[in-house]
Amino acid sequence: MTFSQLGISEEIIQALNGNKIFEPSDIQTKAIPHILKNSTDLVSIAQTGTGKTAAFCLPILQTIEPKLAQIQALVLVPTRELGQQVAREFFLFSKHMPRIFTECVYGGVPIDEHIERLKRSTHVVVATPGRLIDLLERRALNLQHLKYLVLDEADEMMNMGFQSEIDKILSSCKPEATKLLFTATMPT
Ligand code: AMP
Repeated sequence: MTFSQLGISEEIIQALNGNKIFEPSDIQTKAIPHILKNSTDLVSIAQTGTGKTAAFCLPILQTIEPKLAQIQALVLVPTRELGQQVAREFFLFSKHMPRIFTECVYGGVPIDEHIERLKRSTHVVVATPGRLIDLLERRALNLQHLKYLVLDEADEMMNMGFQSEIDKILSSCKPEATKLLFTATMPT
């Protein structure tokens, strides 16, 4: 399978190739066509290093409408470090696309900075759950145009006690948003 056969656009493939990525990984081959159809929610078991970030990042980038200045995708992550890595992939792989803006927000830094940044046109938000709740409570962002909600390292977020934050965030999202859950482990 090639990225083109999976339905990925030429401008994204160019950015992938620029980062020395030429062939889709197993998880990408399975997840990309499903997400591009934006049909149903997805649960995916994938470890770090399998290309799981690009598995959701590429099809989401392709379905973002740049002219719609609204948050269309939210990626929840357990830690600031993972958030920065995920945001970096959105940035790298949208290099040749019309202007798509990604913001990464996390706790431990002054919230005013994030509030100011979110006043600009933003299409993708990558966030840790606690900071996202704070921002929602201050009405600094609107999730009513969301097409995708991704829970990345969902098992890790549960281990860290973020269940109630995630429930709260889910109830603030447009109900039609497609939910994509990525986890390294699955309870039996
Ligand atoms: P992840 O599993 O998302 O943490 O990705 C691990 C690393 O693999 C990241 O540096 C990605 O940019 C890179 N990567 C993602 N997809 C591919 C691919 N299809 N082939 C080679 N490397 C990839």
